[in-house]
Amino acid sequence: MASIRELHDQLVNKERSAVEITQEALDRIQVVEPQIHSFLCVTADRALEQAKQVDAKIAAGEEIGLLAGIPIGIKDNMCTQGIPTTCASKILQNFVPPYESTVTERLAKAGAVMVGKTNLDEFAMGGSTENSAFQLTANPWDLERIPGGSSGGSAAAVAAGECTVSLGSDTGGSIRQPAALCGVVGMKPTYGLVSRYGLVAFASSLDQIGPFGRSVEDVAILLKEIAGHDPKDSTSLKVEIPDYPSLLKPELGSKKQKFRIGVIKETFGEGVDPAIETAVRQAIEQFKALGAEVQEISCPQFRYGVAAYYIIAPSEASANLARYDGVKYGFRVEDAENLMEMYTKTRAQGFGPEVKRRIMIGTYTLSAGYYDAYYLKAQKVRTLIKQDFENAFAKVDVLVCPTSPTTAFKTGEKKDDPLGMYLLDLMTIPVNLAGLPGLSLPCGFDDKGLPIGLQIIGNVLREDLVLQASYAYEQATDWHKQTPPL
Ligand code: GLN
Repeated sequence: MASIRELHDQLVNKERSAVEITQEALDRIQVVEPQIHSFLCVTADRALEQAKQVDAKIAAGEEIGLLAGIPIGIKDNMCTQGIPTTCASKILQNFVPPYESTVTERLAKAGAVMVGKTNLDEFAMGGSTENSAFQLTANPWDLERIPGGSSGGSAAAVAAGECTVSLGSDTGGSIRQPAALCGVVGMKPTYGLVSRYGLVAFASSLDQIGPFGRSVEDVAILLKEIAGHDPKDSTSLKVEIPDYPSLLKPELGSKKQKFRIGVIKETFGEGVDPAIETAVRQAIEQFKALGAEVQEISCPQFRYGVAAYYIIAPSEASANLARYDGVKYGFRVEDAENLMEMYTKTRAQGFGPEVKRRIMIGTYTLSAGYYDAYYLKAQKVRTLIKQDFENAFAKVDVLVCPTSPTTAFKTGEKKDDPLGMYLLDLMTIPVNLAGLPGLSLPCGFDDKGLPIGLQIIGNVLREDLVLQASYAYEQATDWHKQTPPL
């Protein structure tokens, strides 16, 4: 399966056209979709149209960017003008946005070819993509298992070769965790680095869009394209965007200045699959072999992340999802006697059980009398977690730990265990609470042949260091070259 750079070279050398590359992706989708179900909608006509425009540019001798003609999948919670954007929810089933999200607009300008919209947990709430109202997505490495979530469709599509790269969103781990479980690279950037304009809001202070790819370089190329200030998003940062791809080198640090890696002590031991601990410890040895200086770092507040998150995220979600009332968007029940009944019936039928659970928790934690006890307390814990990271980054360049405590589980296995599901995000959530960049990349397989992910976390806006550490590790190992036996 070709990388962005390989495809780009084929295009500029006129070995293949963008239409041929797009058609190959669409054919692959046709062949594997009956097994994988990554896509909620395939936009074949539009994709071929976009590809034709790229070919016209090449024929006219115009210069094309790296992403021109590259097949990409977009998580179906990013608005695409004229193309359904469902959030995998019945309540948005018929919603066709009248506007385009900033990220997809930028990608279209860059000539990237959108092949379709990918499946997710309803409103990005979940960790297995089983909460989609429409379909289950399979893990390409074992079709009986979940791909992770909530961006399960985007991760599975890249792993299965249905597109070269894809976009996901990450509120508590939804890019990194499915990347780990599907054996691909996935990155959540610093909060505010990528515009959220046109991303359907789940928990606005945590949501962040980011790239999936089969290599660190592909992820760096995609990040470079989508990052940068956007006046349409008030939380968007006004910062210079480094040329991430050109910063990637196989070596790490220098003789004068060693690259410093911190291993988060609290992320090993009880609850963590022994195969994962072994793989991550081996990765740490690999970093030492690359010349990095490794030390153990304690982040004692890390373990309160899940508890704080499941107050903060539902609180914000309960406010954000108030707008789905049967009036402004998508689905509305027809058999209501009056306005109140229309609201309640629409929401009762339109939302799935997990979304309802979170709206109820969030409404409770924000209500008078409980706000101080829950919401405010959780925000204070958030500050403590941030301080842990600040202390850590005074000593090291990046932190490493497992991405997920387990590999992919069987579909349905955790159906009646929401708490068990919530605990899967133990290692990714603190990164969102602190607004930091984090990346997951393949670092091994368990005895069932299921992929294991290594998480690399950086300080605010240190995507450069995260990508450098990831790239050096990737170049020294072969994990990312393995493909699922489809
Ligand atoms: N699994 C987490 C949740 O259910 C994270 C979801 C996400 O990052 N969107 O909320």
